[in-house]
Amino acid sequence: MKLLTALLASAALAIGAPVSAQHQADTVDSTLPTQLPRTAIPSHYAITVTPHADKLTFDGSVAIDLQVVKPTNSLTVNAADLSFSNAAVSRKGMSPLAATVTTDADAQTATFTFPRQLAPGAYRLTIDYSGKINTQANGLFALDYTNKEGKDARALFTQFEAADARRFVPSWDEPDYKATFDLTARISTNEMAVSNMPASSTKTLGNGLKAVSFRTTPTMSSYLLFFASGDLERISKPAAGAEVGVVASRGNAEKGRLALDAEALILPYYNDYFGVPYPLPKLDNVAGPGQSQFFSAMENWGAIFTFERSLLVDPAISTEGDRQRIFETEAHEMAHQWFGDLVTMAWWDDLWLNEGFASWMATKATEHFHPDWAPEIDRVAAREGAMGLDALSSTHPVVQEVRTVEQANQAFDAIAYSKGESVISMLEDFAGPDVWQAGIKRYVKAHAYRNTRTADLWAAQEAAGAEGLTAIAKDFTLQPGIPLISVGPAQCVNGATVTSLTQAQFSADKKDEAAASPQSWHVPVKATAGASTAQVVTSGRTTALSVPGCGPLLVNAGQRGYFRTLYAPQQAEALVSVMPKLPAVDQYGLMADQMTLSTTGYQPMATGLDFLDAIPANASAKVAQRAINRWDDLYDLLDGNPAGQTAIAARVIREYGPRLRQLGFVPKASEPAVDALLRTTLIATLGKYRDAEVVSEARRLFGAWQGNPDAIPGSLKSTWLGVIASNADAATWDAIHAKAKATTGFAERTSLYQLLGRAQDEALARRTLDLALTDEPGKTLSAGMITAVAQQHPTLAINFVLQHLAQVNGLIDISGRSSFMQRLAGDSHDAALIPVLEAYAKANLAESDRAPVQRSIDRIRYQSAQLPRIQAETAIWLAAHPQ
Ligand SMILES: [Zn+2]
Repeated sequence: MKLLTALLASAALAIGAPVSAQHQADTVDSTLPTQLPRTAIPSHYAITVTPHADKLTFDGSVAIDLQVVKPTNSLTVNAADLSFSNAAVSRKGMSPLAATVTTDADAQTATFTFPRQLAPGAYRLTIDYSGKINTQANGLFALDYTNKEGKDARALFTQFEAADARRFVPSWDEPDYKATFDLTARISTNEMAVSNMPASSTKTLGNGLKAVSFRTTPTMSSYLLFFASGDLERISKPAAGAEVGVVASRGNAEKGRLALDAEALILPYYNDYFGVPYPLPKLDNVAGPGQSQFFSAMENWGAIFTFERSLLVDPAISTEGDRQRIFETEAHEMAHQWFGDLVTMAWWDDLWLNEGFASWMATKATEHFHPDWAPEIDRVAAREGAMGLDALSSTHPVVQEVRTVEQANQAFDAIAYSKGESVISMLEDFAGPDVWQAGIKRYVKAHAYRNTRTADLWAAQEAAGAEGLTAIAKDFTLQPGIPLISVGPAQCVNGATVTSLTQAQFSADKKDEAAASPQSWHVPVKATAGASTAQVVTSGRTTALSVPGCGPLLVNAGQRGYFRTLYAPQQAEALVSVMPKLPAVDQYGLMADQMTLSTTGYQPMATGLDFLDAIPANASAKVAQRAINRWDDLYDLLDGNPAGQTAIAARVIREYGPRLRQLGFVPKASEPAVDALLRTTLIATLGKYRDAEVVSEARRLFGAWQGNPDAIPGSLKSTWLGVIASNADAATWDAIHAKAKATTGFAERTSLYQLLGRAQDEALARRTLDLALTDEPGKTLSAGMITAVAQQHPTLAINFVLQHLAQVNGLIDISGRSSFMQRLAGDSHDAALIPVLEAYAKANLAESDRAPVQRSIDRIRYQSAQLPRIQAETAIWLAAHPQ
């Protein structure tokens, strides 16, 4: 989510200058879906908020400058969980008209009705109201923690996307109603307040209170407004003409140094990439001591909010993976400052414009600053993640219809983020990075401070020279699903490999219908036969391909394409033989693609396994990590088949055990970051397979840690303890529990409570679930414990949640409730869950809001149907391939 420079020359765009109602009016598109009557358009909000943190309530007042565009005797705004005392409308030369207020809880609106009609023109609507402070991340919410002195403390934050600004201020809470905001907060004199803009004044009010006012924001959507207060501290530094900062609870800000440095590094890079300098005077990232099952960070303009684990480095517990995630989260949220905040999707249908773009940009920034982290492998992993959902018949297009608040919440899924990222990555590759960047610059410049739809991006790209891009882009964003490219017999003709590509739709759960579907895509396909790379764009069912050279034919070379490739058996065999020589990204991409074609029944398991087995033991660290994970997925699919599981475990230990011995159990100061990641994967997986050496080291470290919390290096603590926790008996579980209870550092405490959920022992899993429903872990930790249990015991966790649904719902953000069940079901292949999930959806979700649960059901159904074949064929392959 993000913004710019040349446009700042225009008065309408200058920071702090409220945009006139006329300017505002043309950003509101009357063809957009809306829940509000299009009778008035707000241009400016002046909000005063007085939180009563101890009582979890707040008082508010707001003056909204607006333009009435159609004669009306009432104004309807969004409002949820707010109570109203006074409301009136006024205009120059007219005495104020008091309003009567009615609210509609289901529609989340309040209607102010006046004794007579308002003629079109400029008005000010003033409202006094009060609201609730929540204990999960919706609207204004409280996070409780233990402070530096060991005392209970509470800090307040806001979270408004998608539709929760209305819990803080009655407002036109839809993204196309952009306006400017003034915020004043009345808080205790010893607290700090943070908002989108720097403070403009602080006044002492007496009785230990002060009023902090912030400078006027630029024109922006209501979901980007932010406020926090508490016993906070801030570190900052200048960067690229602005100031970047990290805000955390007192005593913790220094842990944000890594994030602060990342902000300072990324800001000038983005200024340059977007061609528009960051337009606010400061950019803070505010740390929240808690967590959510819905999100880890939010791109509020000028004041990103991030839960601590994704922002602060705690040497006691942070892993190399955490450190990399901090950089990537920063890169994602900062990309939104332009893509989302400066230029905003007009409606939630186009949410992917925000999320797909920010995800893609984060990978691009990581590639620029940390190529040694091999982010190109993660990009392919994102593609695979998206395809997991997109292969189901219940998937949806990237641009999708959103008509309810719940559907807006559900829109934040792998299609918006990861398919969005993959499609942009493919389009950038097609256009070329320079043309693509020129298109982005055009788009940002043309739509700054305004709203867009997806077609605006394609238009800017074509104008920048990306000829033919729109046809590809439309196919991949307006129709759902994944192309399946089948490679025909290849011939060597005059030193070139000549073949034809046939396309159909790839489907995990409805193969026959997909094969018969006439749906096709313009797919940019890159291929190589060992010499240079050739590209064609498919059109219709069959497309001819000619590639220089006559070696084994690799389709989707470089792995930027969003499609699956089915080879004839001989072609697959030839590729297997050259696997060790392929670039790392192709080794991984090819293996992942071929394994999925095998597990979904497009080809025998043996083909996929041959590719997996062909990943060399000395593959790059990231590829080795992914290969181990894939073996482990298969290990889980062989649940109930101990001989098969033993064979896989032995194979992984023999193949990759030497890598662990080479890396050693102890992190080295100068080792590559990817080696540190591989070490955690090796310890966790070999520990799961009860490798004698790993288990004995885990036991030794666990014993030492009980006496000395520093006995395990912080970067490996959750990994080693994870080995112990998953194999825990009751005494071990009790020991970890006692440590969790006694730990005050938020990140470490969170980690320990979640470890309790890792126990394979069902009785201990039940104890974790029971513990999650007590007050002991704290309001935002419990849902994560239940999620941890679900990874081992999905059916147990789901049945438990259904028995305690009201209580569990209180532990999850409103926005995350309906997707929580999907998260618990995860990769389960237990067909017994299908009727349970169906009954849950019917009883608890409106018909319009059941799609995510339906996707879980579809996934379980096809996986359970494929399971006997996967097990039988894998057993045969393992027997035929002893190591
Ligand atoms: Zn995002």
